[in-house]
Amino acid sequence: MIPVIKKRIYLGLLAATMLLFAGALGYIWLTFFQQDGGWLRYITIVAVVAVLACLIVIGLGFAGIVLSLVSEKNITFLNKPMNFTFSLLYPVVMWLGKVFKITQDKIQRSFVEVNNQLVKAKQGKLTPDRLLILLPHCLQERECPNRITTNTENCTRCGRCPVGDLLPLSERYGVHLRIATGGTLAREAVKKLRPRAIVAVACERDLTSGILDCIPLPVLGVTNDRPHGPCFNTYVDPDAVEKAILFFIQGGEGNVFHVSAN
Ligand code: SF4
Repeated sequence: MIPVIKKRIYLGLLAATMLLFAGALGYIWLTFFQQDGGWLRYITIVAVVAVLACLIVIGLGFAGIVLSLVSEKNITFLNKPMNFTFSLLYPVVMWLGKVFKITQDKIQRSFVEVNNQLVKAKQGKLTPDRLLILLPHCLQERECPNRITTNTENCTRCGRCPVGDLLPLSERYGVHLRIATGGTLAREAVKKLRPRAIVAVACERDLTSGILDCIPLPVLGVTNDRPHGPCFNTYVDPDAVEKAILFFIQGGEGNVFHVSAN
């Protein structure tokens, strides 16, 4: 089945946003252009041209996103409008979601799904040292006294939290791994290590803001489980992270093989 089904919330809202722009265009035209001549007519023409230009770019971006999802191939020449549509319209999409009473969580989950599918449509293979794994601090067992954000070697891999299973992955594949307490530390790691791609583990909200921050850098998002509520002893399946690492360093999903953590 075409992998668009799970993504329909975000795509639907994106389409609605385009209609909103088209409506704004029609409104400006009908309200002001038909009025008396003079300076108002010139301002209207400028406004109509600006909105029309935005609408064309958004339309191209939307077409690129849908084509890429359906064909599972990267539409290279539409990448710029796709990034523009993806990032710039996000606040409008969230606002429209509120109007339609769709929860923020649902939209953000859909956004991450769409993003991951678009990243997977890109071909290519990275050397491991250009890949960064970003983990949230909330994966660490709350009672653990070891300071792993400053140095991951402080983790004794006692088995009480998934961090102990994730660190061997970075060693096995030779990829960078950082544990961040928030967006600032994550941004610092990206700035310092200058990766070509990122595998990020976080909740939907943090993944969304991280993905938007990093555009055009490809980010594969892996959502963490929150059995004890947000930001507290969260969990991620190490296999899911391993699969994302292998996607980047082996150049696609077809080559994924399983290697369990020590
Ligand atoms: S695996 Fe053990 S030592 Fe490592 S962070 Fe988790 S609780 Fe702490």
